[in-house]
Amino acid sequence: MKIESIETIIVDIPLIRPHKLSFVAIDKMSSVIVRIRTDRGVTGLGEATAIGGPSWAAESVETMKAVIDLYLAPALIGTDPRSFATYLQVAHRVRNNEFAKSALEMALHDVAARAQDIPVHALLGGAVRDRIACAWGVATGDAEADIAEAKRLKDAGSYSVFKVKIGRDDPGADVARIGRMCAALGQEAEVRVDVNQAWDLRTARKWVPALDNAGCALIEQPIRATDTRGLVSLQDKCRVPVMADESVMTEHDLLELIRLGGVDALAIKVAKCGGLRPARRMAEMAICAGMSPYGGTMLEGVIGTAASLHLFCAVEQMPLGCELFGPDLAADRITTSGLRMQDGARLLNDGPGLGVEIDEAKLARYRRPETSARTAA
Ligand SMILES: [Mg+2]
Repeated sequence: MKIESIETIIVDIPLIRPHKLSFVAIDKMSSVIVRIRTDRGVTGLGEATAIGGPSWAAESVETMKAVIDLYLAPALIGTDPRSFATYLQVAHRVRNNEFAKSALEMALHDVAARAQDIPVHALLGGAVRDRIACAWGVATGDAEADIAEAKRLKDAGSYSVFKVKIGRDDPGADVARIGRMCAALGQEAEVRVDVNQAWDLRTARKWVPALDNAGCALIEQPIRATDTRGLVSLQDKCRVPVMADESVMTEHDLLELIRLGGVDALAIKVAKCGGLRPARRMAEMAICAGMSPYGGTMLEGVIGTAASLHLFCAVEQMPLGCELFGPDLAADRITTSGLRMQDGARLLNDGPGLGVEIDEAKLARYRRPETSARTAA
């Protein structure tokens, strides 16, 4: 089997409401979709997203598309998509650009699994569960609207774990509203926060224990990504897990975190790890070091979320669940089917491959027109 073509398509899908993080607010989900076609008629899909352009990480959908089109895809045309060794040779010639690589690696997994008529998780060691508890990301930008949204979703029975984006407001106001949300939702719900690096270490030393006391169940990336030592010191200041996210982009970052003593939890994201296989390896490294891997998201649509789901259902220990809520935040999708939730858990979909198909009409509708270089007005 040989790769005939590798197509990259940028899509922009509106969200059901703006999503406001400490550093950026977005109103659409922007993704690069990778579609691999082979001489045997087997196709494969991949997806990578960026939140607010090159803001969360260094890559944007535009850079991902360029890196795949110009440097990765040309070297793979004509090769066997089932050969991971060939992919690694090509990928190693491009430094960093993990998001771009992840979209391509995902599509190669989809092709390889479809060629054998097996689900992608079978290529990752096989699923050990058929569902995973899924948190909803709360980020309306308004404290009372956040509480109302979480309460509505909890009362509807769809979600019971909520991850609130904080760090835009005064820390005292943020902690107070987390306390109000915990009280409003009651014992059956769980409230976690993601500060997205917004605090300095001195601020975090004061407010991380306060979040713990307010009933918050997990505190993600309270300080800047580069202060790994500071992050480790904060774990000693509270009873609930501190989670590393932006601090650990690479295996080297993870080794450094482990060397410094680690924290309780690590957000694993297929995009930041550079693909399904490195993400699985980092999840296993975390488990070996006594950290709980957590199923993170870059707010992917159905394709990227399905791939993450196949991975997270194949990792033996995922006690903190995942936050694969991206498809529910999007107002529409470019696939013929969605991914199901049941009793607060995301259900693993069957294969072959990732088990998702493109809806061509929707793809055409949300596809970003090809744009040329910008000129002065
Ligand atoms: Mg995060």
